[in-house]
Amino acid sequence: MNKLSQRITAGLQHQRQQGRWRQQVARTSGHGRLLSHSNGTTLINFASNDYLGLANDAIVRQAFVKAADQYGVGSGGSALITGYHQLHQHLCEQLADITGMQRVMLFGSGFAANQGVITALMKSGDLLIQDKLNHASLIDAGLHCRADSVRYRHNDLTSAEQQLQRQAEAKLLVTESVFSMDGDQAPLNELAQRSQRHEAMFMVDDAHGLGVIGDQGLGATSIEPNIDVYMATFGKALGVGGAMIAGDKDIIEYLTQFCRHYVYTTAMPPAMAAAASAALNRLTNEPELVATLKHRIGLFKKLAQQANLPLLPSNTAIQPVLLPGNDTVVSTAEYMRQRGFAVGAIRAPTVKAGQERLRLTISASHTERDIENCVATLNEEMGRMQEHIE
Ligand code: PMP
Repeated sequence: MNKLSQRITAGLQHQRQQGRWRQQVARTSGHGRLLSHSNGTTLINFASNDYLGLANDAIVRQAFVKAADQYGVGSGGSALITGYHQLHQHLCEQLADITGMQRVMLFGSGFAANQGVITALMKSGDLLIQDKLNHASLIDAGLHCRADSVRYRHNDLTSAEQQLQRQAEAKLLVTESVFSMDGDQAPLNELAQRSQRHEAMFMVDDAHGLGVIGDQGLGATSIEPNIDVYMATFGKALGVGGAMIAGDKDIIEYLTQFCRHYVYTTAMPPAMAAAASAALNRLTNEPELVATLKHRIGLFKKLAQQANLPLLPSNTAIQPVLLPGNDTVVSTAEYMRQRGFAVGAIRAPTVKAGQERLRLTISASHTERDIENCVATLNEEMGRMQEHIE
């Protein structure tokens, strides 16, 4: 066996031994409140990022199908050659309007957008400053770019300020608006002020915020207008896929010229842009969607608090229930599955050891009954586990 094959075998073995084995199970249904799998199970879906229930929404689907019928299924090239379609342009204009940013560009995924922007903007001698709990796409961008990359303690303004005080050619501070594993929110106003004071650009990843936070669910820019670089994905509350970067016209022009993850990749299919546009229309024209989500989140929290479930302080659609230990979290998720609920089991090293958790995500597509039953089932199992310990 050559060295690389040996490393692969050892890596797989280690992953299994550590209880970190990741598995993908194909579903056989569309997305939404219910998920069906090929083994015949149908589960109530508390594990997806489809916060507004738009992934299988009739209007969004119709927009996708109509555009595919009219323009085909692929974009046929990179945006700067032949890939850019008027449906992309329309989506960019709509997003600029909603976010209040001057210009918008589209990416195939949020992962690519984060990597692309940071590696294009950051040069040797620069300083990239990130929250410790930022998403892997941001942390890895820090490793791949030429700048010095530092992290501050999670949501800690003093720690962020200490990093901002460091000398560098140019500085970029990056935070998520809603943290993907904890569901808590960044202090956007204070981070924007401090970035400005220390002449740093301020970038926000609003993957879990757009469609959820702000009065009308319009995301981070409705809470803090002074964001220099704004990223949001369309694969979560908008239910589609793909992502955007927004900024002033020079930043977006610069990225259009120099961002390798934009220049050297196939543009997202125009039908996806049409579907994202339709999802945005639903978000902006039907405030009851976001109101329903907020109500369901409130109900979940109230019931979970009454049941003394170990929640983290989150007011967003991401509601973690702490259950330390990879085995414990996996077996509890399995218990929930057997009783009809899909919930995420988040293990170390995705989160720090000892911080393992179930990650429940609340959606506007849940009924009140779904939420009541889910909390009651979880409470039953936690009670049983407690008895076992005592
Ligand atoms: N940023 C955050 C905070 C995320 O949670 C994710 C997806 N898990 C991404 C970026 C990547 O987005 P996408 O899924 O569109 O690649």
